[in-house]
Amino acid sequence: MRNILRKALAVVAGCALSTSAWASHPDYVFLFIGDGMGPGQVMTAQNYLRAVTQRPDTTLLMTSLPVTSLCTTYSASSPVTDSAAAGTAIATGTKTRNNMLGMASDTTALRSIARDFQQLGYGIGLVTNVAADDATPAAFYANVPDRGMYYEIGRQAAESGYEFIAGAGLRGFSKQGQPTGLASHFDRYNVKIVHGLDELAQTDANKVVLLSPDTIHNYRINYAIEARQGDMSLPSMTRAAIDHMMRVRPQQFFMMVEGGAIDHAGHANDGASVIGDVLDFDRALREAYNFYLAYPEQTLIVVTADHETGGMSLGNNATGYWANTAVLANQHVSKDTFSDLCNKLSDPTWDEMERMLRRDFGFWDAIPLTDKQTSLLKDMFDATFVTHSAKGQQALYNYYNPFAATVFDVMDSHSGIGWTSIKHTGNPVPVFAVGVGSELFSPMSDNTEISARIREACKKYQHTPVMMR
Ligand SMILES: [Zn+2]
Repeated sequence: MRNILRKALAVVAGCALSTSAWASHPDYVFLFIGDGMGPGQVMTAQNYLRAVTQRPDTTLLMTSLPVTSLCTTYSASSPVTDSAAAGTAIATGTKTRNNMLGMASDTTALRSIARDFQQLGYGIGLVTNVAADDATPAAFYANVPDRGMYYEIGRQAAESGYEFIAGAGLRGFSKQGQPTGLASHFDRYNVKIVHGLDELAQTDANKVVLLSPDTIHNYRINYAIEARQGDMSLPSMTRAAIDHMMRVRPQQFFMMVEGGAIDHAGHANDGASVIGDVLDFDRALREAYNFYLAYPEQTLIVVTADHETGGMSLGNNATGYWANTAVLANQHVSKDTFSDLCNKLSDPTWDEMERMLRRDFGFWDAIPLTDKQTSLLKDMFDATFVTHSAKGQQALYNYYNPFAATVFDVMDSHSGIGWTSIKHTGNPVPVFAVGVGSELFSPMSDNTEISARIREACKKYQHTPVMMR
């Protein structure tokens, strides 16, 4: 009723009038994408939640939604997709080759569903906890043959006309240490760049790019397990995005929220960080779900992933049938941070390292180690810090210190988390949905069908063509 009144008022106020084939239900569409979030990541996080709360019936919000399905993710060039091809498939409904963004394999520019919504008068919000020019958010506004073209991607973000784009940073601001002039391009298009939620609260601009106040780590906000007081988080950014859209486009909006750090932790084979960020993603979903509860007749929420990362499983050869994810509550530092710390240490003693492992991983205290595991750690400590003979572990986003990699192997042998890869896999990903048109997401699908089903939901629930603002 409120919406009908608003629409009537908009007509009376003499706003521009047009009609549309698929206005106006649902008026609020949320698409949540967990980057690298396969069924293993989701179910391990749920298992962890049950283990630490000791409530075997506890569920994640996403797994409690009424519609649950699966989605295939292969790209035009490989059974194992990257985020650029998968993001393009989800955003545009067309398969492309790995590395390509918003373009078909023959470099024809593709149109994202966000553009269609924009043309219909919806406001557009994009939120991620990795870089705002990373492949997943960029698939909704950019058309480039290579996902690494950060300056061009940044220019297209400025020109998109979207009301809200949020992420850790924009890597196109500088190239080889030199400013590129990208910031002034945002000025030219009346887009206000703010750093942090406090600055956001002080602006009344209609078009905003929200970035982290931490300008050094422009590729990712801190993992949830090591977030500091006052850090931006995916839930707080999602809340801010909803508030912004309700201020500037209260009638209708489309919002994509990406949990991008799940993928980074998967590449690192860091179980606790994956779980922490899946839980954070679920908390961000809660923000949209609360919105859905306020507008249940007008809201559609779809949750999926672009691909799986790491071949993550619950259960490995070390633990067999005795996986125990609750031990991961003792891990307070990510593999990336711990590895960087190890690389900076000069001539540490074993006693110092032992204290650190007790504090940051609970080894020997909350997690009793076998003599064999203690010897393994001591031997690798010597090989890393004394004889310097050990080789590190290469992954996509980092080269892990050999001692740090061994610490995480020991952690896995207690938690029972298994990995088959430091890259993506072709495993299918989950789809969850609630709200207007959510039943359309029930059959198993391919990632090219996500946007088609969102369009279908909008068509199916249209009433007589309405005046668009
Ligand atoms: Zn990845």
